[in-house]
Amino acid sequence: DDGGVPGRVRVAVRLRPRNAEELVADADFGDCVELQPEVKRLKLRKNNWDSDTYEFDEVFTDSASQKRVYEVVAKPVVESVLEGYNGTIMAYGQTGTGKTYTLGKLGEEDAATRGIMVRAMEDILADVSLESDSVYVSYLQLYMETIQDLLDPHSDNISIVEDPKTGDVSLPGASSVEIRDHQTFLELLRLGEAHRFAANTKLNTESSRSHAVLMVHVRRSVKDSALSSVSSSSNPHTSKVLRPPVVRKGKLVVVDLAGSERIDKSGSEGHALEEAKSINLSLSALGKCINSLAENHSHVPFRDSKLTRLLRDSFGGTARTSLLITIGPSTRHRGETASTIMFGQRAM
Ligand code: ADP
Ligand code: MG
Repeated sequence: DDGGVPGRVRVAVRLRPRNAEELVADADFGDCVELQPEVKRLKLRKNNWDSDTYEFDEVFTDSASQKRVYEVVAKPVVESVLEGYNGTIMAYGQTGTGKTYTLGKLGEEDAATRGIMVRAMEDILADVSLESDSVYVSYLQLYMETIQDLLDPHSDNISIVEDPKTGDVSLPGASSVEIRDHQTFLELLRLGEAHRFAANTKLNTESSRSHAVLMVHVRRSVKDSALSSVSSSSNPHTSKVLRPPVVRKGKLVVVDLAGSERIDKSGSEGHALEEAKSINLSLSALGKCINSLAENHSHVPFRDSKLTRLLRDSFGGTARTSLLITIGPSTRHRGETASTIMFGQRAM
């Protein structure tokens, strides 16, 4: 298992359980996929006799718990962020397959259903020291190549600033809220979700047509094992000096991607067509960057979209990246499921 190898994208697939409609409509049919989690394989049915087999870094059946998905997909990334590296966790898949459930579920009614964002913040708050460390959060929506601040509904389009020397990406115009306790974080996620809904109503679109991006900045002062000894041999009472603390900065980016379904452009015009083009642009730019990393190309085309520019410093290099692809069981969506699986396969 190379759960810790930076630079390579780890790809997991998760199957959503049948929903109420599918339980009735597909009652007489099998699912379009068969999962073999022990061997990390997925079989996609071609017809009644034949199927294609794919391997992933991890395969989650429809009974996998939120806890397990967090531990396998997200925890290694969160741990490396706590050590001062950047990392990205993204969910890719057709609308309705469980991206938001997996990443963003608050789980207030049932703690077992809490998603990756909530569990990640719990682990971060449990590990940092509120005296010497700080945790700041920004929450954004990327829609039609503009970035909106979900924590400030009155903000203008947020611009991305790249430090030419370090390659660090920052968003000087975006709100950044300090998190000192879990309740504040939950309120902030709720607020962001409400602003997202309001903004999308105004734009006459749905949240599945935009990317939601949560950024968590963790800054820690690490005391260099507090004390270090000098001239130990000559002095039996080893004199000690206090070294200045080392600052470690890590950034966790969690991306709930726009629905990957192909939009029928033939029937669309005007705004709907522009929207469809924009989603295609950013998802295909993301796919190209992931593929370049998977194939170890020296050039990764980050500049091709706002989404990939935003991810530039949290993706590849020393950063750890997890991609979760989400699929549904219904044979009616077999085509979309197949293209989601191929997106995941190309990333490996
Ligand atoms: P997406 O964000 O990909 O559009 P959602 O996360 O909104 O999809 O999921 C669609 C529906 O399926 C929601 O009602 C969600 O609660 C439900 N759902 C998704 N995944 C699961 C799961 N693993 N277990 C139970 N319900 C799920
Ligand atoms: Mg969603």
